[in-house]
Amino acid sequence: MSPASPASDRWIVLKFGGTSVSRRHRWDTIGRLSKRRAEENDARVLVVVSALSGVTNELTAIADGAADSMERVGKLEQRHREFLAELELDADAVLGERLSILRALATDPRAVERTLPWQAEVLGQGELLSSTLGAAYLRASGLDFGWMDARNWLQAAVLPNQNAWAQRLSVSCSPLASAEWGEGFRQQPARMLLTQGFIARHRDGDTAILGRGGSDTSAAYFGALLGAQRVEIWTDVPGMFSANPREVPDARLLTRLDYAEAQEIATTGAKVLHPRSIKPCRDAGVPMAILDTERPELPGTSIDGNAVTVPGVKAISRRNGIVLVSMESVGMWQQVGFLADVFERFKRHGLSVDLIGSSETNVTVSLDPSENLVTTNVLAALSADLTEICRVKVIAPCSAITLVGRGMRSLLHKLSDVWATFGRERVHMISQSSNDLNLTFVIDEVDADGLLPVLHAALIDSGAMPVEETSVFGPRWREIANGIRKRETPWWHGERARLLAMAEAGTPRYAYHLPTVRARAQALNALAPIDQRYYAIKANSHPAILQLLVEEGFGLECVSLGELQRVFEIIPELSPRRVLFTPSFAPRAEYEAAYGLGVTVTLDNVESLQRWPEVFRGRDLWLRVDLGRGDGHHEKVRTGGKDSKFGLPVAKVETFVALARGLGANVIGLHAHLGSGVETPQHWKQVCDELGGIAERIGSVEVIDIGGGLPIPYTEDDEPFDLEAWGAGLSEIKAAYPGYRLAIEPGRYLVAEAGVLLLTATQVVEKDGVRRVGLDAGMNALIRPALYDAWHDILNLSRLDDANDGVFDVVGPICESSDVLGKRRRLPDATSDGDVVLIADAGAYGFAMANAYNLRALPKEEVLDV
Ligand SMILES: *Cc1c(COP(=O)(O)O)cnc(C)c1O
Repeated sequence: MSPASPASDRWIVLKFGGTSVSRRHRWDTIGRLSKRRAEENDARVLVVVSALSGVTNELTAIADGAADSMERVGKLEQRHREFLAELELDADAVLGERLSILRALATDPRAVERTLPWQAEVLGQGELLSSTLGAAYLRASGLDFGWMDARNWLQAAVLPNQNAWAQRLSVSCSPLASAEWGEGFRQQPARMLLTQGFIARHRDGDTAILGRGGSDTSAAYFGALLGAQRVEIWTDVPGMFSANPREVPDARLLTRLDYAEAQEIATTGAKVLHPRSIKPCRDAGVPMAILDTERPELPGTSIDGNAVTVPGVKAISRRNGIVLVSMESVGMWQQVGFLADVFERFKRHGLSVDLIGSSETNVTVSLDPSENLVTTNVLAALSADLTEICRVKVIAPCSAITLVGRGMRSLLHKLSDVWATFGRERVHMISQSSNDLNLTFVIDEVDADGLLPVLHAALIDSGAMPVEETSVFGPRWREIANGIRKRETPWWHGERARLLAMAEAGTPRYAYHLPTVRARAQALNALAPIDQRYYAIKANSHPAILQLLVEEGFGLECVSLGELQRVFEIIPELSPRRVLFTPSFAPRAEYEAAYGLGVTVTLDNVESLQRWPEVFRGRDLWLRVDLGRGDGHHEKVRTGGKDSKFGLPVAKVETFVALARGLGANVIGLHAHLGSGVETPQHWKQVCDELGGIAERIGSVEVIDIGGGLPIPYTEDDEPFDLEAWGAGLSEIKAAYPGYRLAIEPGRYLVAEAGVLLLTATQVVEKDGVRRVGLDAGMNALIRPALYDAWHDILNLSRLDDANDGVFDVVGPICESSDVLGKRRRLPDATSDGDVVLIADAGAYGFAMANAYNLRALPKEEVLDV
């Protein structure tokens, strides 16, 4: 017996689920963690466990009267005996008695009628077995562990309106403890105690079951009853995430939530914590934590009442199998009692309603299958009943997509990208909760496939999900699962002296590092599924870069006659077969000139064929399609969808092909380029798949061109694009369409990181508490920040080794308020006029978009090679 510790009334409750108790090394972890918690906090520890994984399912089958119950009992016995052997414990000594109780239950006379008390008894055996063997193992390991029967400590509460089933198999407990109760608990001799989740005492003295999520709820009740310091739910995932990580690898770990948000997230999707388990802790003010048994070093998710309130979307979830019931009735809603009649019918069929939307003549409600027994029979019966009072339409299966977070109302203006994403789908219903914690969209289930990663990214990009709040948002799932791939150290760190010397010769000046361009080209060349590569020269048409890329085997993609002329001027010997012409709203003469040069022409509308048939008669051409959506780092770079001027809508493809055939023109290439700086590798896989389908219908297509748009990591947080995953996805699709050559046409990816813009500070000015460092060029030299809110790292190259201990807005000399290269940037406090400032990752769409606005001179350009 341990001496009465002064800590005897400080408790920590740890709960371990099925997978955490089914392996020997996991029990070692349980022992180690319990001991550490007891010592660290000078506390006593109560461990709550589930049954070994899979055992409760077996017991459920037995309780449901499975024909082969005896066989199942035999297997369960064998399973536990084998596990005891793994634990090197004597099976008969440890579990002999419990196993005979299990056998006796199977032959119990009550088994014939499957009475509810008998079912509860059967279901509870799994936890009794696992806790008994666990306590024996931990004691054998030399730990001071006592075993308790949870039924002696948790009493099922009697609630009004509960049927007999719920009173036995889905009970709640009162989280209020008597002094006597507390005293009895304190007097348990061992410092650490082990007990069962899932079970409680019915008021008749027999067993009662807590129902789904039972073990979490048990731990929460114990935590509340004991006024514990903390309840830790140990499981096999690192905590709650901002989305289901299996669907959204970029989902962030949520490191801190308040009870209400956690409750909402648990209710609308996250399976990691049962929503029922939060209330007892919330009411008692006991903090909770979700932690990963295999990765105990991760922060997990903490849930408590002291979490600072951070407004914003914390999570997005999707529930499938939602059934909508739409009820149409003219002029009846104002009638007293009409809605009561409607809901009475739902009640009659035991259906609870989740979301409600109403208009003058229509009320639509959703049924959540996890709370209801929704079968076709039930629905048919409900419809029949409702038909007596209104017209009924059942819409199923649907998905409910829910955004959860505090202050949803004040976020609506940031959700325009989210609205736009949904805009492509039919939204049956939108519902905002009155507690301002969630916003739910109901759409057809098929439309929801693949949507979550896109929505999650849109929430982050729009600022609606404030992932920069590190008190709430932790690492991405991808980082946790695979480790994050860091950006390599930028080349210019090693070239500082040369760059400073260049700046001496005058700024603004772009410098391009050719070895970086070469490395990117070679990485793309190494990807097996891609047959043809083109460089989109509008990103940067410096002669040295064009030459280098052509040497590396790239063709060139041009969007104007000017670009075509530039290409042949610099590389006269270049075969026109390696040049694409993909203009937008180009005049007729440019098409004629392009055919004259012998390059491949891409067209994206039927009107050109109709108005200028002679230009295209008998020619080969590529067709650019609009797959109905755009993507990319900013609204202004999305080149697909209804609002975009690019591409032929898929619905017009047939007309286009027929017109072309009529002219004897041959559609031999199919092209889509939906945007720039797209971060999800799945994007191209999908594009490729869709183009493959269209190509099959056209028949004459030889090449599928999936465009450019590959991103680069502009910020510290951005990860380098996963080329391998990208290539692997494309290989999969290519296998489905082996008859086509696959082409890409990146711009940014090849050159962005190779370029820097060198500028000189002209002055530092303070105004109303904001310090601004002025440079000798701004949006005239680099327009991306002004045009796209783009981020470029900004460094003081003259003071590169100094600490960045000052905060400045970095601005140019142009008379426009958008002439800002970066806001609130950290630079050395001593930054002053004459310092050389470097703008990183400016190789793409930098000089190419520079202009002479305010009659300021264009920047100079220079290359560095090894
Ligand atoms: C601009 C452009 C590209 C290149 O886009 P990046 O985002 O720089 O890769 C490719 N194809 C077409 C048709 C373009 O207009």
